[in-house]
Amino acid sequence: MRYKILINSMKTALFPGSFNPFTRGHQDIVARGLRLFDCIIIGVGRNTAKNPHDNADERAAAIAELYAAEPRVAVQVYDVLTVDFARAVGADVVLRGVRNTADFEYERQMADVNRLIGDLETVCLFAAPDKVEISSSLVRELQAFGKDVSDYLPSAGDVSAGD
Ligand code: ADP
Repeated sequence: MRYKILINSMKTALFPGSFNPFTRGHQDIVARGLRLFDCIIIGVGRNTAKNPHDNADERAAAIAELYAAEPRVAVQVYDVLTVDFARAVGADVVLRGVRNTADFEYERQMADVNRLIGDLETVCLFAAPDKVEISSSLVRELQAFGKDVSDYLPSAGDVSAGD
């Protein structure tokens, strides 16, 4: 039996989000995404319409520090349509995470829009069972009440694929 050898080409995924803050759930999507794609660009969305004091630059700097030793991950702030940003940075696909049916409906709708307006495909990974309850809004809420959120935030030693 002869196998057909396919030409290999680099695949770059854009992982867009608010990442306010970047959690262990996001970190897990990046780690697992690195098994599927050659490079991942973490796109930190700046939304000054919603929040004039949006600190997207600070969020992006913290994420970039986390991945400083991982050459396959880049972090960038953006404030244009995701499809336009994906094209500008040469991303082939959008990477997202799905925790529950609410996420599923939202992601399906976004994926449809991005395919329709930008011919851009989306790959969704299901949240790991031990990370399914983690959300940025939960972290913000706990922080507001002075609770310890370290269990939900990324650990620097845990950033590459396959760990
Ligand atoms: P957005 O504001 O665009 O929804 P988020 O920063 O909240 O951005 O999330 C970015 C992506 O990460 C989304 O696809 C979201 O569903 C996914 N995500 C968030 N938390 C988790 C988690 N705990 N496990 C897996 N995916 C997650």
